[in-house]
Formats: sequence, C-alpha cells, structure tokens
Amino acid sequence: MTQPETTWRRSTAERPGRPLVLAMRRGATLKCPACGTGGLYRAYLKVSEACPACGEALHHHRADDAPPYFTIVLVGHIVVPLVLTVEKLYAPPIWLQATAWSLVTLLMALAALPMIKGALVGLQWALYMHGFDPHASGREDWDGTGVQPTGSKT
Ligand SMILES: [Zn+2]
Repeated sequence: MTQPETTWRRSTAERPGRPLVLAMRRGATLKCPACGTGGLYRAYLKVSEACPACGEALHHHRADDAPPYFTIVLVGHIVVPLVLTVEKLYAPPIWLQATAWSLVTLLMALAALPMIKGALVGLQWALYMHGFDPHASGREDWDGTGVQPTGSKT
C-alpha cells in the first residue's frame, strides 16, 4: 500500500502550527481566523476574498454543506426538547405551537449559520486545509520553493 501524495503534517519551520481553538472561536465570532480583527464576511454568508485587516486570503475555504448540517443538528437538539417540554407541561393549541416553533427554529438557524460557518472556516485555516497552505503544490501563487508534500520522495 502506498502513501497518499499529500498527508496532514504537524507544524514545521516553513509551516508553523496555527491555534485551532482560537481560529475556530474567531471564526465563530465572525472575525478573521488569522488576526481576529478583520471581518470574515462581506455579506450574510459570503466570506470575504481576503481579510480587510491583515490581508489573509480567505477565499480558499470549502465549507460547502457542513455549516447547514451542523446548524440543523444544533437547532434540532435545542428546539425538539423544547417543543416536547412545552407540549407536556402546557399543551397549547397546535396552531400556536406550529407558528411559534417555526419562527423560533428559523431565527435560531439564521443566527447560528454564520457562526458555525465561521468556525468551520477557522478550522480549515488552522489545519491548512484546501488552499490555506501557502506551500502546497497546485497553488496558483506557489513559487515552487516551499516544502515538498509529505510522502514524496526527494
Ligand atoms: Zn485577518
């Protein structure tokens, strides 16, 4: 069995470790994972091309379907127990529950989605995923002088 061309590596001199929890926390507060001061988004869920404060390229993220997935899991685990508890204790009319819980679910999802997406962008940045690794081969701006990918024979 052969090793894949590129594998995850620990920090090196050329690729210092990035603080994972701090980067995810900065992203969850809608800030740049690199500096924590610049805004992460240019619109509601549109990640900026680069940080307006430090210039870190942010367009490399590939959050894709993960933010909605984690948002559904989070909001569902909060709303469903609340619905069941209110039904058991007060048994309000079904029209009232359907209206109120739909609104609560919608607002919670809209509030959580940018925070969760920001945390995932922070995670990708901290782990040098996708294009966040300046020394990865295949980068358009890579000058070829960076670290060889792990697993390659030099
Ligand atoms: Zn920044």
